[in-house]
Parts: sequence; C-alpha cells; structure tokens
Amino acid sequence: MNNCFIDQIASQDILLRVTNLCGVCYDDLKLGEMIYYDMQEYRYLCQKCYEELSDKMNSNCEVVDDGEGLFG
Ligand SMILES: [Zn+2]
Repeated sequence: MNNCFIDQIASQDILLRVTNLCGVCYDDLKLGEMIYYDMQEYRYLCQKCYEELSDKMNSNCEVVDDGEGLFG
C-alpha cells in the first residue's frame, strides 16, 4: 500500500463535476465503483490502471521503469 493515491467510491458529484473517464485508459468510471485519485498527476484512475501504476511506483510515488536502473 502507498500514499500516492486516494481511493474513493465514485459518486455522482465526482463523475459529473470532475471526470467520468479514467485518466489513463479512458474507460468509463461508473457510479459506485472504486476509483483512485492520482495525487502526482491530478487525475482519477480506474482500479486496473491504479494497480498497474502503483506496481511501477517506488515509495516516493515515482514511476520507476523496470530494468532501467534509474534509482540504482
Ligand atoms: Zn483505467
């Protein structure tokens, strides 16, 4: 678990006023689904993209390219 995302249930308020699309895959976010606010990029993500992205993040919420050795 990390602190890079805020998880919340998609409310009508969020879907109408902020977004109803995932910021990565542009899938529809649906009322009542779990969604994740990416505090680095200021966007909402669906569960799938959240899982993929958080897998690639280090503890500082930086996306680390696997195998490229950015952080030694
Ligand atoms: Zn997505």
